[in-house]
Amino acid sequence: MNSFVGPIDNALPVMADAGPMTDPFGRAVTYLRVSVTDRCDFRCTYCMSEHMTFLPKKDLLTLEELNRLCSAFIAKGVRKIRLTGGEPLVRKNIMFLVRELGKHLQTGRLDELTLTTNGSQLARHAEELYDCGVRRINVSLDTLDPDKFRTITRWGDFDRVMEGIEAARRAGLKIKLNAVALKDFNESEIPDLLRFAHDRGMDLTVIETMPMGEIDEDRTDQYLPLSKLRADLEQQFTLADIPYQTGGPARYVEVKETGGRLGFITPLTHNFCESCNRVRLTCTGTLYMCLGQNDAADLRTALRASPDDALLYSAIDEAITRKPKGHDFIIDRTHNRPAVARHMSVTGG
Ligand code: SAM
Ligand code: SF4
Repeated sequence: MNSFVGPIDNALPVMADAGPMTDPFGRAVTYLRVSVTDRCDFRCTYCMSEHMTFLPKKDLLTLEELNRLCSAFIAKGVRKIRLTGGEPLVRKNIMFLVRELGKHLQTGRLDELTLTTNGSQLARHAEELYDCGVRRINVSLDTLDPDKFRTITRWGDFDRVMEGIEAARRAGLKIKLNAVALKDFNESEIPDLLRFAHDRGMDLTVIETMPMGEIDEDRTDQYLPLSKLRADLEQQFTLADIPYQTGGPARYVEVKETGGRLGFITPLTHNFCESCNRVRLTCTGTLYMCLGQNDAADLRTALRASPDDALLYSAIDEAITRKPKGHDFIIDRTHNRPAVARHMSVTGG
């Protein structure tokens, strides 16, 4: 089924044979998340304000440049790439990049190419994603109630997302649903989301809201500690901790009643930094070594300075030496400001 149309570019140097890049705390950096656009066709209330100022289009790297940057990371030992955003599937001609990166799966230089999406454009792209070598995707879905869906996403169309999820399942893509747990909004709906996911063979991960960027609401009002959510779920379900790992920060339980998996991403109640293996690239070529810190490295200058990748490799190496030990997220009444000024849509979730 997987045709991987197009010639295979095998010209990557094999510097990863020296081992993956390692940060000052001994963590191997093998995972690159790429925000291919900061724009989105939704305005989720916990993620964006209604009136956002986006990056000027002229500052964006071209898809060819993003491909070159991603390929440099693969040459340096990155084994997994996740495309995210903003909404990755609203970037014009995004399937060009997916197809180019998919070629590295075929050569064995990349283990996994995946994406995180709001699902709005999935019906259109699901089959081609599979054809390019994508096998698993994350779809964000915070509620099963169409009216609440419209409230939380401001602009989203619930039925289109449902069609997208069905199209992805038909295409053979494995789906994990992500729900941000929001106090007094969807906390009572998590059992329904769990059954919806598990009935369809999908995992569900719940996420604590993180203090990133100014939004129109008070984050203290939205914040729901997952320790509380878990205690509530345990009134109805039997949750058994399991060692299942996807290389990410989620800790999983098996839900005995459904036989499915439920993940918890708890940046605030339980810091997940000690096993962090990732760095994040923005659509302007800025590399963030941590989701929750402001330090960043400019890779665009090195990329554009020379068609040869030597400068780029040095810039990447230098950036990795600056990967910090962890983030400092806190949400409470005395820390009711964003920990970092940029929105999640700049670096991707
Ligand atoms: N638009 C795509 C989507 O919604 O899946 C990809 C980008 S979105 C920024 C990635 C993930 O980050 C989504 O699951 C979203 O719910 C989550 N997210 C956004 N803002 C967040 C915040 N402040 N705290 C926690 N998760 C957040
Ligand atoms: Fe868009 Fe995703 Fe942010 Fe929602 S969470 S506004 S879909 S980038």
